[in-house]
Amino acid sequence: MYTFGGETPFLAVVVPCYNEEAVLHETTRRLAAVLDRLVQERLIAPESIILYVDDGSKDETWELIDELSRSHTFVRGLKLSRNSGHQNALLAGLTAARECSDCVISIDADLQDDVTAIRSFIYKFHEGYDVVYGVRQNRSTDSIFKRNTALAFYRFMKLMGVNIIYNHADYRLLSHRALTALSDYKEVNLFLRGIVPLVGFKSAIVRYDRHERYAGKSKYNLRKMLSFAFQGITSFSVTPIRMVTAAGFVIFILSFLAALYSLTVHLWGRTTSGWTSLILSIWFLGGVQLMSLGLLGEYIGKIYLEVKSRPLYNIEVNQLLEDRGVQADNNQKLISR
Ligand code: UDP
Ligand code: MG
Repeated sequence: MYTFGGETPFLAVVVPCYNEEAVLHETTRRLAAVLDRLVQERLIAPESIILYVDDGSKDETWELIDELSRSHTFVRGLKLSRNSGHQNALLAGLTAARECSDCVISIDADLQDDVTAIRSFIYKFHEGYDVVYGVRQNRSTDSIFKRNTALAFYRFMKLMGVNIIYNHADYRLLSHRALTALSDYKEVNLFLRGIVPLVGFKSAIVRYDRHERYAGKSKYNLRKMLSFAFQGITSFSVTPIRMVTAAGFVIFILSFLAALYSLTVHLWGRTTSGWTSLILSIWFLGGVQLMSLGLLGEYIGKIYLEVKSRPLYNIEVNQLLEDRGVQADNNQKLISR
């Protein structure tokens, strides 16, 4: 089963970093300690790596990564040419790590996610799970603002019909084949939290406590959070378009009531001249216009989904291939992005 690490799986821990010079020493110390133990217990291969992805930092992050890669056997670096954003940096790391790993774990650099949960991730991987979600048990260390906005975010996403795991961020394990399947989702508006559940495969949840940021400041301000939520919704859901259609329909129906009302008033002769025809046209045209917009939107939504060309399915077991003695996983279709 383990192709890269031989008898033990080759693990790559992918860490996106943007201006994280204040935390990297500590992060490396803690991650390396966890990995060391796992190697000793023969749960992962000794060649396993910690891959830091420098997302165009403006401070000394890259110099630090470079230095750490020389002093620590686990550490490797990947430097992006400019700041591309958390999700893209993460994807860059995952894509690079895929070529040489049996499983990858993504984690933030700031040590908010408990690194000791990595052990449970690896246990789950050995039990045969392809996807392991890290789910935050408590968010008491987050500010009230952050907690509530995050909660509202998950609720709203559900409402909009986007399937995401509650209280799960980007702390997760992906097996090689889950990662390969993921790479078939070639959309540019990347929202990993929404895509990973779409990929499927056997998944498990590991709960952990969320800590405070070890040092440095959060890189997500309100503006970035809102844009992140907006991205998530618009790249996954056509519900907003449907809402326009629905509004159009409702107003169209209402226009009949308005017609009834204004005609009655007109027949009673209690109106100024011109009022009835104006009111009638406003309601009727308003309804028709909104409905037509919604209809157009439906088609644009369809085009949008087509353009994404998401895979319609991912194969988990293929007995036809097993019959021929070929290993039945996605390894055959190593399509690079
Ligand atoms: N990050 C990144 N590029 C960015 C913003 C953030 O790579 O443009 C990284 C950051 O270094 C950290 C992770 O994404 O490792 C999560 O960011 P942060 O901790 O600031 O977000 P929060 O935990 O406050 O939501
Ligand atoms: Mg953080």
